[in-house]
Amino acid sequence: MAREDYYQVLGVERGASAEEIKKAYRRLAVQHHPDKNPGDKQAEEKFKAVSEAYQVLGDAEKRAQYDRFGHEGLRGGAAPGPGFDPLEFFREFARGSGGFEDFFSSFMGGGFESRRAGPDLRGEDLRMALPLTLEEVARGAEKKVRLRRLIACGSCGGSGRRPGGRSTACSQCGGTGEVKIVQRALWGQVIRTEPCPRCQGEGVLIDDPCGACDGSGRVEASEEILLKFPPGIGDGERLAKRGAGNAGRRGGPPGDLIIEIREQAHELFERRGLNLLLRLPIGYAQAVLGAKVTVPALDGSVELRVPAGTPGGKVFRLRGQGLHIGGRRGDLFVEIAIWTPAKVSAKEKALLEELGRQPSLRPPAPGRAAGGKAGDGRRA
Ligand SMILES: [Zn+2]
Ligand SMILES: [Zn+2]
Repeated sequence: MAREDYYQVLGVERGASAEEIKKAYRRLAVQHHPDKNPGDKQAEEKFKAVSEAYQVLGDAEKRAQYDRFGHEGLRGGAAPGPGFDPLEFFREFARGSGGFEDFFSSFMGGGFESRRAGPDLRGEDLRMALPLTLEEVARGAEKKVRLRRLIACGSCGGSGRRPGGRSTACSQCGGTGEVKIVQRALWGQVIRTEPCPRCQGEGVLIDDPCGACDGSGRVEASEEILLKFPPGIGDGERLAKRGAGNAGRRGGPPGDLIIEIREQAHELFERRGLNLLLRLPIGYAQAVLGAKVTVPALDGSVELRVPAGTPGGKVFRLRGQGLHIGGRRGDLFVEIAIWTPAKVSAKEKALLEELGRQPSLRPPAPGRAAGGKAGDGRRA
């Protein structure tokens, strides 16, 4: 017996794109799923056939082999073997398709606890991480981001119906979107309601689905979205932009866009809450004699008077020069480091050698008290 062509099984052209093949499988697998067609042998066979076809055509490598050599080309590993379970395959497929999973949760088991009143048409939430600089965190920011998401289909206005097409109330649930299931229990029977498997809880069946969106009422689009961040947002914080997630199915409410902030490390400042820490190198002569130095701050710069005899490691606190958020002000902590040049001129070398011969400029041996100040900021 000749085996049916996989492309025919899925009802797609030989040159169909991966996305078209995926869509076709999704549609047929849902239509013929055994949970929706209990006891229907024909549906079961069809479900197996489309699963097998997609198992091959949904895999670029297997598809190429099949295109060249037909069913013969799939011998030896590539063909769905006796262990192939179409139900498990479909479950994996639904799980791997992200938001699509929710689409099926109503009849894929596990939906008993999450039974909901009426159809859930809300679009899925989308998530993204967004890097912000310290300046953006401090001042607040407006950012434009490009986002791929599902928007309402323009051809059918989100209804999923071909313009002029009809939709009728679902005959299985009478348009309520719910069915009652009677189960035998230990004592008598239990009646529970579940989303209707025929219309997937929507109450209506579309006779003539819109071709642009395959009846889902949504199409993928790339959009630029403006996000506004208030000052003072912290690393790892999440914000939701309401309605910027996927459009709802068939006119349902949209999901949200959830943005997680990733604060980028600053090249100068280390942030500790509202306070900032800056390591500031000064020259040996400045440290010994004292100096006025310019300290970079988040807004411009400030002057700092370094007193004579300042050791390396000493920390100065510049009040109010940290982050200003919600009426609170942080401070800027400036840690002094003594800068050592890697190279000196002959003249500088001579001067330094002269200095080096001065006994009072030599540090004391470790642990011995002396008049100077140790480099770690503590008095020796
Ligand atoms: Zn129904
Ligand atoms: Zn449409």
